[in-house]
Amino acid sequence: MTHHFDTRLLHAGRPATSPETGVAPVNVPTVRTSTVRFASTEAYRDVFRRKAAGERIASYGRQGMDTHQALEDALCLIEGGERCFLAPSGVAAISFAMLGLLSPGDHVLVTDSVYGPVRKLDSSLLQRLGIEVTYFRPDAQDLSSLLRPNTRVIYAEAPGSLLFEMHDLPALAQVAHAHGALLVADNTWGTGYLYPALAMGADVSVVAATKYVAGHSDVMMGAVVTRDPALGKRLNDTYYALGLTVGADDASLALRGVRTLTVRLAQHAQHALTVARHLAAHPAVSRVYCPALPGDPGHALWQRDCRGTNGLLSFSLATADHARACRIVDALTLFGIGFSWGGYESLVQLVEPGDLTGHSAWQEGDRPLLRLHIGLEHPDDLIADLNRALAID
Ligand SMILES: *Cc1c(COP(=O)(O)O)cnc(C)c1O
Repeated sequence: MTHHFDTRLLHAGRPATSPETGVAPVNVPTVRTSTVRFASTEAYRDVFRRKAAGERIASYGRQGMDTHQALEDALCLIEGGERCFLAPSGVAAISFAMLGLLSPGDHVLVTDSVYGPVRKLDSSLLQRLGIEVTYFRPDAQDLSSLLRPNTRVIYAEAPGSLLFEMHDLPALAQVAHAHGALLVADNTWGTGYLYPALAMGADVSVVAATKYVAGHSDVMMGAVVTRDPALGKRLNDTYYALGLTVGADDASLALRGVRTLTVRLAQHAQHALTVARHLAAHPAVSRVYCPALPGDPGHALWQRDCRGTNGLLSFSLATADHARACRIVDALTLFGIGFSWGGYESLVQLVEPGDLTGHSAWQEGDRPLLRLHIGLEHPDDLIADLNRALAID
């Protein structure tokens, strides 16, 4: 019998009981090691035989042992993949995926809603390596006209992380595959739990586990997941060449986050929807950006593709006065001013007008935009805090 996802997530990678003592720890031990010992030259040869046959078996510390393997198994389960590569941050995972899949002379189409550091990756590294990047609209209206014979990858961040533009991922996969290209999805917003990117046709899913997977704002981590063995092999060669690895303590923290992922997401979502509905009716607010709200341009796709929402939403202010927007942000007491999201706590980011340059979905000029991460504080307290701040002149 196949158990429900929540059940499988709690049991993924759990240690087997010892044949000698009959007991096992509940949690996977944190196995810190820089190298491994082989029992004999015969064992050494056997490890490499099994590795060559595709088995995940460590021959050196960089590959990680039990802790890493358990986290990889859990992330494969979450994303619906077969092979997971851990990276020291979400950005490292994105750069690794790009370098693994692209070569000089290739062209990649990237959604214009993309997370800012990816534009930096484009301008600082990909261009230097002779990899061309063009940006397409999240509604994909211009996608076919932007395809080139050398387009090898379409990269979508679905949804975006400032305006939460939904993407029609199955349609993007169709365009990519008809062209002989791959579809890569930054699936940080939902993880495979809220948004099954691989099942919808993405070839590779990239997740900043720093956010909801780890869930407590105490670890940086990225993951690249695929279900295609040939792609796994290709990525593995680049992964090895780049020498990427993560520490066992970080892997252990991320694994602890995995165990409560579904309950945290459900609670974040409930709080965020309460706050979003309140803000949508607030006179100081111009518009709320959250695909889970009816009226958001991405709502139909959200209903079709997502299991739920998370703690994220943005809203624009009715005022165009930036100094007042700063006073409002400064007046919030329960929201930390900061980047990132996915921890237990509420955060606010006053999005700089320049951050939205090139985002085709942004139609509000220089109106101030605030991105909120709604944490696990009681939503009534968050709403009272927002009300008080929004009343400031
Ligand atoms: C935060 C984030 C990343 C990068 O993750 P880090 O671990 O901070 O490097 C990538 N993509 C999205 C959508 C993010 O929000």
